[in-house]
Amino acid sequence: MAASITYDENRRLIISGIECDCACEHRTPDQDIYVGEDIIRNLPQYIRKRNLGTHCVLVCDKNTIKVAGDQVCRILTDAGIDVIMCFLKRETDVDPDERSVGEVLLSIQPETEFLVAVGSGSITDTCRVNAARTGLPFVSVGTAPSMDGYTSAVAPLLLRGLKIHRQGPCPEIICCDTKVMATAPDWMIAAGVGDVLGKFIAKADWKIGSIINDEVYCPVCGQIVTDAVNRLIDNVDKIKAKTPEGIQILIEGLLLAGMTILIIGNTRAVASVEHNIAHFWDMWALSKGHRAPCHGASVGIGTMMVWPMFTRFADEDLSKIDFNELKKRHMTREQRVEWMHSTWGVDNGDTIMRENPGDFLSWEEQERRVRRAQERFPEIQAVIRELPPFERIYNTMKKLDAPMKSVDLDIPEDVRNISIHCAKDYRTRYTLFKLLDECGLLDEYLSDYPMN
Ligand SMILES: [Zn+2]
Ligand SMILES: [Zn+2]
Repeated sequence: MAASITYDENRRLIISGIECDCACEHRTPDQDIYVGEDIIRNLPQYIRKRNLGTHCVLVCDKNTIKVAGDQVCRILTDAGIDVIMCFLKRETDVDPDERSVGEVLLSIQPETEFLVAVGSGSITDTCRVNAARTGLPFVSVGTAPSMDGYTSAVAPLLLRGLKIHRQGPCPEIICCDTKVMATAPDWMIAAGVGDVLGKFIAKADWKIGSIINDEVYCPVCGQIVTDAVNRLIDNVDKIKAKTPEGIQILIEGLLLAGMTILIIGNTRAVASVEHNIAHFWDMWALSKGHRAPCHGASVGIGTMMVWPMFTRFADEDLSKIDFNELKKRHMTREQRVEWMHSTWGVDNGDTIMRENPGDFLSWEEQERRVRRAQERFPEIQAVIRELPPFERIYNTMKKLDAPMKSVDLDIPEDVRNISIHCAKDYRTRYTLFKLLDECGLLDEYLSDYPMN
């Protein structure tokens, strides 16, 4: 049975059809997710339904206070809920750093029963880590359909200028009022689309992982993501025009992709090599004292960078692989450590290697994978041929005036070139880029992205 979504009379999203007999453990998300026009006024009712209490800390910034923060404060106060405003006042955009996290923590009083995050990524993540540390539930009032992290269980944060990740709960209530979200600037809308388009790559890599490494692929989660992303491409005009329907399609795409994380407990369906490239750019920018580029914009560009490698591989002739040559070029442990340090930097490289011990590949395992790819190449071809034509991705981004190249995000050419070479090394999770490398083809494929 195919997964499908409907809404109840209160605009609560109901996902059904996630019964699946794959070997993943599936959990039905129990969060209350609401999507609709003018639903923000129903917040007190949503909060009562979950018995969250009557004392909250509301977190917002200079942008979100105007589009929803003040309004939410009034609505909750009128309903008898005591609100402590935690306004993160900054000249620039808010970072999810120790200062923001600390401001929220110090706003929490002994009587506080829940947190309300009014914003998108940074504010939600700032609240998420506070919710984790204090045990308080939190409510997310989305203000921009710019990323798929509303339903996430991990918060990317900044500590002393470095990017860190901390586990944290998913909001108990997510309220996406399409009228509020339609006020988001065009670049945030384009970013949301970019984040969703990356799911094509994530899905293809997941399937390739199941072919090469017998990884469990969940067809239901795969289908949820594919439906979401196709609907988005088909409706790009409405999204660009920010019609209520367009905004709803975009936020549904982001929420549904995010829900696969709740269903199977990992991000396999939503993030792969295109996200690794985005992470590389973030780390580079932060190391230079710059702001990290917009997540969805990076993912969209990363997707367009890696796409042609997929298409090309579908026409590859793997019978020509010279195993003796490949064995000679097999990286020793020392060579790999050196490679990781020279690309990701010593600190980040060490962290990645510690967290991904499986990436120190023995020759025997490399040979097994390449032989498996040879044997089951038609299946890999089928996975790649399932992808829509690249032009559809390109045209969607173009139509939304999204940044199209890394230079548009102030990522210099040499950084872009390194990032695509080492994107395969960020996680053990299998990708086409790992396979290209193991087949000795990666350098040839990336000759347009030379190492400086
Ligand atoms: Zn993302
Ligand atoms: Zn499944």
